[in-house]
Order: sequence, then structure tokens, then C-alpha cells
Amino acid sequence: MNTLVLVEHDNTAVADATLSTVTAAAKLGDVTLLVAGKDCGGAADAAAKIAGVSKVLKADDAAYEHQLPENVAPLVAKLMDGYDAFLAPSTTTGKNIAPRVAALLDVMQLSDIISVEGDKTFKRPIYAGNAIATVESSDPKLVVTVRGTAFDKAEAEGGSAGVEDVSGPGDAGISSFVSQDVAEGGDRPELTSASIIVSGGRALKDAETFQEYIMPLADKLGAGVGASRAAVDAGYVPNDYQVGQTGKIVAPDVYIAIGISGAIQHLAGMKDSKTIIAINKDEDAPIFQVADIGLVGDLYKIVPELTEKL
Ligand code: FAD
Repeated sequence: MNTLVLVEHDNTAVADATLSTVTAAAKLGDVTLLVAGKDCGGAADAAAKIAGVSKVLKADDAAYEHQLPENVAPLVAKLMDGYDAFLAPSTTTGKNIAPRVAALLDVMQLSDIISVEGDKTFKRPIYAGNAIATVESSDPKLVVTVRGTAFDKAEAEGGSAGVEDVSGPGDAGISSFVSQDVAEGGDRPELTSASIIVSGGRALKDAETFQEYIMPLADKLGAGVGASRAAVDAGYVPNDYQVGQTGKIVAPDVYIAIGISGAIQHLAGMKDSKTIIAINKDEDAPIFQVADIGLVGDLYKIVPELTEKL
């Protein structure tokens, strides 16, 4: 089977989410990567070094600079003449582009797969991860999004694929890029690739308290910072901090949930973390059912103590 994988990039470097998608694609067959961007030679060269990749297609055009899905999807649909499967990471960009590709090819999308069971058979979570469905496609071509935390990352170095220029329909003329506000995370690791995450919930009261109690602990641990939806909705932190069913899916080595009750929708985003530590004053909080280590007590006492002792 020939697979085409969407590379997530900023025209210079390849985003981590691409690497686990490459691993999933390699289980299906030969892997070709698509770098669609503007002045994206740096990203294409980085993509060519990923282990296990046969070829990199580079579509360098002003229309693809910001990877607008309305422009990239027709390009992918055109390239799919030569491929059996299109795979994209289950990220904002991947989830923006893949459904449009599926619609253009008139096939179903296989969303958020967590394993490859056969040529056209995959496992994917349903009901917020409470059940795992095995799905088989009968479509002639596959369009698949891949849950990054479910696959190991392919090695970013070690490959030596050739880079081939391709072109597509260009600007579809139905959308344009206006601006972007990139969240300032400082030196903090990105949530989906952090090996430690400190997450805060509604119990943190407000934005100032969240900063005061969560950030110093995260800084000491070199951790990424997450939050429950209640914390995000209440404006303690921006949207992209949200972990859960409607937020980010994470699986770090250590996840520290502070003042988070452990609602099913939150657990859907973090229960695959290797070690879960929960701090909650309610010993019956559901978070303790998934926690490996539980501290029952007032976070306003425990967290500063913990931060100091580290
Ligand atoms: P609460 O449930 O209010 O829990 C606060 C916890 O803090 C309690 O357990 C309390 O005992 C503890 N606490 C209070 N004070 C202290 C203290 N001083 N010290 C220690 N502990 C203390 N939620 C998500 O997180 N992510 C999602 O993606 C998400 N998606 C959703 C999608 C849908 C369709 C729906 C309906 C809901 C979704 N939710 C999601 C919301 C979810 O149901 C919960 O409402 C939310 O997770 C609760 O957040 P919380 O645990 O911070 O708040």
C-alpha cells in the first residue's frame, strides 16, 4: 500500500505530531510525506531525514504558506491518484484538512486511530475513550487521522529520502489568512509532547491563583501546563491549555492533576499517562480511581510545600 502523510510544519521545522503519524503509516506500507508551504525547503529537508520515509513531495506555493485547509485539501486530493491512503495527525491542522480530503475523494474518514490492525482495519476510541471500536473501511482509498499518543515517534534523523517538487490547484479563492496570535509559552514544553504535565482545575479560583500555584511547580519540573475545561471556561488560562475530550489528548510520563475532580471528559484526555498523581481535598473524587499516587488535602498547603521541597 502507498501512503501519503501530511507533514505539520512552520515552513522550517517539522512538528513532532508528524513523527507518530509516520509510524502509523509505515504499518500500512510505503511512506511518502507531503510538505505544503511557502519557502518550505527547510521543512522538506527535515522531513527527508525522518527514518522510514521513501519520498518527500514539496508543494511550494504562496497558497500553502499557512496551510489553509481550503487550499491544501484539493492539492492532497489531486496527489491521491497515486496513493492508497492519506494520513494526517489528529491535531487542529490535521483535523482541519483530512475531512475535506475525504469529502473530495467521496470516502469516509477514519478518525483518531490508535492502532493499525490490517490493511483497512483500525482501532479507535469512542464514547470519550470508554469503548474501543474496531472499524474496517470498504472504500477504495483511505483517509485517516492518527492519535499521536498511541504510536511511537519515528526517528527524526537517519532517513535520506529524495525531495520532489509538486504543484496543485493553488489558491481556491474561498479563504484567506488574516493573522495569528501565537500563545507565549516561554521555555515551557508543548502540552502534547511534554514528558511531565502539571494540570490545574476549578479549585484554583482565578487566573492569578493559577499562576501563583501551578506555574512555579511546573517550572521546577520543566513541565508543560494543562487545565480542566472548568478552569479554561472560567478564564484562568487560555483554551489551548485544555486537556480532555474536547481539548488535547496527552500521555506524558507523569501527569499531576491539581484540584481536578476527574470528570469522564477530562479523563478521556489524560488517562493513558504513565503515572498519574492527583491532589484533591475530596477523597471520593473520581480522579483517585485512575491515580497511581493520590494526595488527599488542600492544594493551597500541599502544592507550595511540594514546590519548595523540589
Ligand atoms: P470540578 O469538577 O468542579 O472539580 C474541582 C475539584 O477540585 C473537586 O474535586 C474538589 O474536590 C477539588 N478542590 C476544591 N478545592 C480544593 C482545594 N483547596 N484543594 C484540593 N482540591 C480542591 N472537561 C475537561 O476537563 N476537558 C474536556 O475536554 C471536557 N470536555 C467536555 C465535553 C463535554 C461535551 C462536556 C459536557 C463536558 C466536558 N468537560 C470537559 C467538563 C467536565 O464534565 C467537567 O465539568 C470538568 O472537567 C470539571 O473540571 P474540574 O475538575 O476542574 O472542576
